[in-house]
Amino acid sequence: NDRDIIVVGGAGYIGAHVCKTLSKYGANPITFDNLSSGHAHAVKWGPLETVDLRDAGATEAAFQRYAHVETVIHLASSIEVGIGETHPAEFYQNNVLGAMNLLNAMRKTDAAQIIFSSTCATYGETDAMPLTENQPQIPLSTYGKTKLAIEHMIESYHKAYGLKYVTLRYFNAAGADEAGEIGEEHDPETHLIPIALRSAMGLRGRMKIFGTDYDTPDGSCIRDYIHVSDIALAHVKALLALDTGLAATSLNIGTGNGVSNLEVLQTIERVTGLPLPYDPAPRRGGDLSRLYADGAKAKAIIGFEPQHSGIETIIKTAWNFHKREMD
Ligand code: UDP
Repeated sequence: NDRDIIVVGGAGYIGAHVCKTLSKYGANPITFDNLSSGHAHAVKWGPLETVDLRDAGATEAAFQRYAHVETVIHLASSIEVGIGETHPAEFYQNNVLGAMNLLNAMRKTDAAQIIFSSTCATYGETDAMPLTENQPQIPLSTYGKTKLAIEHMIESYHKAYGLKYVTLRYFNAAGADEAGEIGEEHDPETHLIPIALRSAMGLRGRMKIFGTDYDTPDGSCIRDYIHVSDIALAHVKALLALDTGLAATSLNIGTGNGVSNLEVLQTIERVTGLPLPYDPAPRRGGDLSRLYADGAKAKAIIGFEPQHSGIETIIKTAWNFHKREMD
């Protein structure tokens, strides 16, 4: 429907999938990205404005160039949990100050609605699985704290200035688009599935599994993997809901199914036909033993249900993307 939408972080892994899905639904994604971890080659469905949210003046100027835009999707952030612990100043500056500059630029141009990428890492340590949105938010990591600070900022702007928002708390984003055009390429990579695929391909060392003595059926951690194209679809659903009167909500975006780290490795061996030996390693600091979503609220409020998030499909699409590295 020829509608311009600003996608901050549109050059990143999830952002590029969001842009592709928006364009499939007839909108025009305009990527704002500083390319610190995103890739210009992943911006294929609309223009790229290279802008850094930490620069308030540059951010406002970029918004003034698109002053007609009403809706912003904000996915840009520092995400590497370990770095957040050692370099919190960078995390607060990039995530929290960046979001503040963004919200203030939006106020100047009357951009009245935002879809914000948050995380299940904003919840505290709990055994209450599946996790509902009502669980207390007491994040363990600096990463989770910066995301929660932004959630609070958005809520305040909603109450005082009428900003409309949908906050999406993603569980474990994984997989790649069906066409293999875009996929996960973080540097350094810290996520289980891409690391394990590259290990199976012989492109990195033997796999380490962080913790095999957890109180879970096979002793390894359990996560809720959601296909990145499903996450992208959740943004479209959120947009439609905002357009039809939704004013403010926060939603878990997951599948409700927990998959263990060892099950991920077994699925990779099955899908790729490659052996994937691993070494048990000590637990990684800050890891919860299990984490999976209650998705009922997202289904009820924006009609979101995952379509591609079986672990087999996730691994097949991720493999389809990664095996091109061998060509
Ligand atoms: N993990 C692992 N080996 C690795 C990378 C990750 O055992 O090389 C584990 C990690 O400890 C966690 C799970 O895989 O239990 C998912 O980690 P990831 O970093 O992919 O996502 P997170 O759940 O931390 O957001």
